[in-house]
Amino acid sequence: MPWRGSKDPYKIWISEIMLQQTRVEQARPYFERFMSLFPTVFDLAKADQQKVLKAWEGLGYYSRARNLHAASKMIVDQYDGKLPEQYEEIIKLKGIGPYSAAAITSIAFGKPNAVVDGNVIRVITRYFGIEDDIRSTRTVKQVQEHVNELISYEYPAEFNQGLMEIGSLVCKPTNPDCSNCPIQIGCVATKTAKTDSIPYKSPAKKTPHKHIGVGIIEREDGKVLIALRPEDVMLGGLWEFPGGKQEEGESIQQTVERELKEELGVEVHAYKEFMKLKHVYSHFSITLHAFNCKLISGKAKPKKSQEIRWVSIDELEEYPFPKANKQLTEKLVSEFSS
Ligand code: SF4
Repeated sequence: MPWRGSKDPYKIWISEIMLQQTRVEQARPYFERFMSLFPTVFDLAKADQQKVLKAWEGLGYYSRARNLHAASKMIVDQYDGKLPEQYEEIIKLKGIGPYSAAAITSIAFGKPNAVVDGNVIRVITRYFGIEDDIRSTRTVKQVQEHVNELISYEYPAEFNQGLMEIGSLVCKPTNPDCSNCPIQIGCVATKTAKTDSIPYKSPAKKTPHKHIGVGIIEREDGKVLIALRPEDVMLGGLWEFPGGKQEEGESIQQTVERELKEELGVEVHAYKEFMKLKHVYSHFSITLHAFNCKLISGKAKPKKSQEIRWVSIDELEEYPFPKANKQLTEKLVSEFSS
């Protein structure tokens, strides 16, 4: 991992935020590109938000990128460009919760703050034989208390990273390699043959599925219309093709036509389904139906978005889009250039 071994608090901060719910292999190229675009916290603080979101495009959870950007400005304005060393200070920065605060302060500044992530939860619940549901905050608190007691005051960074690595490389979710585990002596789960049942995680609740209809409005000069999502909503600050959720009793074409009237004040004819794709978010999933649309009447205005733009197909790649819309722009670009 390109950030391992580094004591640069900025690099550690960026990598820890990227690694939340993202695998190392997936995060690595993003990390390298991000560092070449914004090598210091000063570069990040003065960057345009659209450039930051574009660098994050594809990683998902865009609020993390917006928070990183906002926090970089706080670090420059309030801390002379240096990340605060104390847990109580760093946790005040946007987007930094208990996990990131403990990881950054221990790895970058050698503070004895114990990190609890999914890997640590698995190792500790097995080691101490904790059979309670790990979805419960009580169980996570119990794990936190154990690692707070165990952490090395002399080598907190090595302790945290070592424990996380035992979780990712040895104490794996299935078939943990107990015979090669450095903490096998004393592990309750292996002694009692309960590695299959610990940790216990109750079944996830079924997430809702929505059908979303969006319109690709084409103008005579070949340009298409895109809209900038408001800042304060999910995927805020990203561009998209306008549209919205299908309501009961309407066809998906009707959804597109109604949504474009509400969002832009125009009458369109959604005449052909250009693409249909599925996408899963953390709390729901969608089927996105993208329709080619002809403008019938009206002049488009940004009624529900920050801004709208007419752009040529080859300009689409310059704008940050959420993942589902990105697949759509890629198909448009490839059909346009073939
Ligand atoms: S002995 Fe086995 S179950 Fe216990 S911590 Fe090590 S790998 Fe995990």
